[in-house]
Amino acid sequence: MLGNFTYCNPTRVHFGEKALEALSGELAGYGGKVLLAYGGGSIKKSGLYQQVVDILNRCGKEVFELPGVMPNPTVEKLYEGCRIAREHDVDLILAVGGGSVCDYAKALSVSAWCAQDPWEKYYLRMEDVDNRIIPVGCVLTMVGTGSEMNGGSVITNHRQKRKIGHVFGSNVMPKFTILNPTYTFTVPMKQMVAGIYDAFNHICEQYFSGTDDNTTDYIAEGLMKSLIVSSRAALRNPEDYEARSNIMWAATWALNTLLAMGKSTDWEVHMIGQSIGAYTDATHGMTLSAVSLAYYRFIMEYGLPKFARFAVNVWGVDPRGKDDRALAQAGLEAMEAWMKELGVAMNIRDLGVTEDMLEGIADGTFLLSGGYRELTRADVIQILKASM
Ligand code: NAP
Ligand code: FE
Repeated sequence: MLGNFTYCNPTRVHFGEKALEALSGELAGYGGKVLLAYGGGSIKKSGLYQQVVDILNRCGKEVFELPGVMPNPTVEKLYEGCRIAREHDVDLILAVGGGSVCDYAKALSVSAWCAQDPWEKYYLRMEDVDNRIIPVGCVLTMVGTGSEMNGGSVITNHRQKRKIGHVFGSNVMPKFTILNPTYTFTVPMKQMVAGIYDAFNHICEQYFSGTDDNTTDYIAEGLMKSLIVSSRAALRNPEDYEARSNIMWAATWALNTLLAMGKSTDWEVHMIGQSIGAYTDATHGMTLSAVSLAYYRFIMEYGLPKFARFAVNVWGVDPRGKDDRALAQAGLEAMEAWMKELGVAMNIRDLGVTEDMLEGIADGTFLLSGGYRELTRADVIQILKASM
């Protein structure tokens, strides 16, 4: 049974090859000072940086640059951004980049005017936002996280060995997002497949929970099938617009709050993956792929009907003559074969995890209760060992 909910996604999406044309109209809604946040230089190489700066100039904006937002943005980078945003009292943060830049922009949005240490308030204590929020707009260049249309923001504190996400409310979600699939053509293959697996896992995290008949699960199955088909096409030809546009849109819907409406969710793969990220700074999607099979084979026994349904509805496994356990196993085998086709990480050793880190990674893993089994710390250790 669907639980009660209120659904509103306030992010306005401009999608397609001409989506950037909508930027000037969006900018008109904000004051004159824009903080332009971006990563390590891919947007300069592609020419997108110049296009965005030209539009900002034509719109008469005063632009303050904040380059160098790294993959898995750090708390030190957040503090740096806070100083710049406050000093210039900016009216809008424009994020141009991947999920890291979008996440960072949202972190900055709530942190710049926070009277306390924002890491402690918003990431360690997960408090609600009660200070001024700077609006955020996104121009997305790398697909996977869904950050372009959600309130999620993940920040890494290497000193404390913690990588933590806070899902902020709709007032922190991007006001607008520019999605042009051609921007993703230049994403390196490793990042492309990591992003595809990240999006796929976002769907799994919301699908593998609950035993009711739920409309959202049918939507989830459709999105998973679209990602499987389009990922294969994109592997063959990364400049296949049809595939890249489908991947972009499916990834956005994978985590823009819709799939969580009225149902419970799991998120334990992300909890383990983020803790691995705190120790290794590995690519997010790879931390998920590297633990997924061990995790799902561990919890499968507690949610057999759903895993059997996954096999039949998502992977097309023939149910004849198979009980739920055999179907569930066949579904995970099909998923494993697809992950190998993609070339995502299949073990955590390849990400730099060593035996001496396992206890610490388990300590940094939040144990949630929405999945088919609430893990214990010992379970996490067992899953990590099976992922080595
Ligand atoms: P990313 O860290 O934003 O980007 C990865 C790399 O791809 C960067 O080196 C970047 O280079 C490069 N890149 C991006 N666009 C490119 C392009 N068009 N051409 C060439 N290179 C390009 O990757 P991401 O997977 O999108 O974001 C990962 C972060 O998001 C992690 O911290 C993860 O934990 C978080 N996350 C958030 C959510 C959420 O709900 N908000 C969900 C899942 C994960 P440049 O730096 O040079 O641009
Ligand atoms: Fe993710």
